[in-house]
Amino acid sequence: MHRNPYSSAEIDRASHHREDDDHIEDLLVGSRTKFVPVDNERNLVNKHGQPQPVFLQGMMARALIRGGATTIFLGHVEEETYFALDVTGFEMPTEGLGEFVDLRQIGPLLFAREGSILAYARGMTYWHRRHKFCGVCGAPTRIAKAGHERVCTNEDCKAQHFPRTDPAVIMLVHHGDKCLLGRGRHFPRGMHSTLAGFVEPGESFEDAVAREVYEEVKVRVKNVRYHSSQPWPFPASVMIGFHAEAESTEIDVNQSELESARWMSREELLPENLPKDGSFFMPRKDSIARRLIEDWLGHEAGPPPSA
Ligand SMILES: [Zn+2]
Repeated sequence: MHRNPYSSAEIDRASHHREDDDHIEDLLVGSRTKFVPVDNERNLVNKHGQPQPVFLQGMMARALIRGGATTIFLGHVEEETYFALDVTGFEMPTEGLGEFVDLRQIGPLLFAREGSILAYARGMTYWHRRHKFCGVCGAPTRIAKAGHERVCTNEDCKAQHFPRTDPAVIMLVHHGDKCLLGRGRHFPRGMHSTLAGFVEPGESFEDAVAREVYEEVKVRVKNVRYHSSQPWPFPASVMIGFHAEAESTEIDVNQSELESARWMSREELLPENLPKDGSFFMPRKDSIARRLIEDWLGHEAGPPPSA
């Protein structure tokens, strides 16, 4: 089975606890409880040597909670309990602890379990900060189910809102010995990656793959095969990865979607054959895009380090 960075089977989400307010209260003050602070989508990390996430415990966490910082029950890892703690807008001294950084800066360097906990906390706090008001009637919402729901406070509405993640398909299109790599308009200079796009309402994943490829490069695909998936909370997606076979190789790049696209052979993608001047490089090692390319090339990217 393929397991990509930011996902981990080691977190027991223990969803049966979410409706048990008394139990959640006990867990909040438990001695084996750790809080994952998130400040504006940034995670607290100690960057000395191998980067390590910094979790809060005890008095510092309790002071923030008393002050009104949002807590979200994440689950258990072995004997420990984790909550996300949104400290955005709160005074939180970080001296001696670490610094708040974008997970994407250090994600590839983290152990799988730690990376997935930080990604989960980031995704949940992001959703809460953007759903303070009801999308149906506009009244304020309140947190429920230990952070896994928000409920409209308008008695005539009471709409329930659930954390959401937006599905996006990502696909390596190949034909014979070549694969198709493109450059999005906002990619760092030189980076080439797989094609990708959001799934639209009323569409299957396979339909979305075919539509996106046709929209971006006017190529029809067949044999769309599922590869693996990856939570990608930057800010709120899950990437569903595919390999897809092109019916033809002529491409017509849609300039409003892509800056450029090109077919690359296995030979051209060998590390020793890639240009050394920065004009061509592959996507980040923690991305499913890289995994899709590496697996197609036949040399495994290798599993992420495990804790
Ligand atoms: Zn409402």
